[in-house]
Amino acid sequence: MQWPGLDGRRALVTGASSGLGAHFARLLAAQGVRVTAAARRADKVAALCEAIAAEGGAAEALALDVTDAQAVAAALDGAAFDIVINNAGVAASAPALDHDAATIDRVIDTNLKGAFHVARAAAAAMAAAGRPGVIVNVASILGLRVAGHVSAYAASKAGLVQLTRALAVEWARHDIRVNALCPGYIETEINREFFASDAGQALIRRVPQRRLGQPEDLDGPLLLMVSDLGRSMTGTELVVDGGHAAAPI
Ligand code: NAD
Repeated sequence: MQWPGLDGRRALVTGASSGLGAHFARLLAAQGVRVTAAARRADKVAALCEAIAAEGGAAEALALDVTDAQAVAAALDGAAFDIVINNAGVAASAPALDHDAATIDRVIDTNLKGAFHVARAAAAAMAAAGRPGVIVNVASILGLRVAGHVSAYAASKAGLVQLTRALAVEWARHDIRVNALCPGYIETEINREFFASDAGQALIRRVPQRRLGQPEDLDGPLLLMVSDLGRSMTGTELVVDGGHAAAPI
C-alpha cells in the first residue's frame, strides 16, 4: 500500500544501524522515500543501504553521532530532508541509586539532547529552504509512565515527549510537524534474550494483549505520522503498546 505524500521525499533516520531504526529505514524506502541511514559509524549501515538498494529502494549511509551538536549541525547544514526520524537511543537499567553521573549523561545526552540537536539542525534547513517537514521523535511509554530501574531512561523520554510539544508549537509557522511515537515493548536484538527469560515472560503477561510487540506493529502509526494522511497531527504522541500503558495499576 502506497501512503500519500511519501514517494520521492527524503528522510533521515538516526540510529539506523540496528533494531527499529533499520526497520524504519526499510519501511520508508519501500514507500519510495530516499533514505539517509545514519549511525555513529557509516560502515555499520552500509549493509542496510545495500539491502535497501537490492529491494529497489534508495538509501545512503551517513556517519552521525547525535550527541555531537557541532557534527550534527555540520552534517545537516543545507540538507534537504522532508522527514526526520529521531530514533537513536540508549537504555540503562539499574536502581536510581546506582545510576552514576556518566550513565545519566549518556542517556540524557543521547535520548533527549541528541534528538534536540538533530531536530533543530533539520528544522533550520527546512525553514531556510521554505520546505514543509515532519519530525518523529521515537519516545516510549516510559515517557508517559514509569517502571522500576529505568529512571534516567524514563526521564529522557518524558523530556522528549514534552520537547515534541514545544517544537510543534514553535515550528507550525514553518509548516513543520513534530510528533512522538511511544512504543511499548518491541522485540529487537537488544531485548530478545530478556523476553525469552522468565522475567521477560512475566512482563509480557502484564500487557493486555499478552504479546510482545514486533517492529511491524509500528508501521501504520509511523507512516500515518509522516504521510499526508497525518497532516493535521502535530505536537501529539501515538502510543503503540498493546494496551500496556492503559493497564490497571
Ligand atoms: P537499538 O539499540 O537496536 O537501537 C538504537 C540505535 O541507536 C542503535 O543503532 C545505536 O547504535 C544508536 N545510537 C545510540 N547512541 C547513538 C548516538 N549517540 N548517535 C547515533 N546513534 C546512536 O534499540 P531499538 O529497540 O531499536 O531502539 C530504537 C529506539 O526506540 C530508541 O530510541 C529506543 O529508546 C526506542 N524504543 C524502543 C523500544 C523497544 O522495546 N525496543 C520501546 C520503546 C522505545
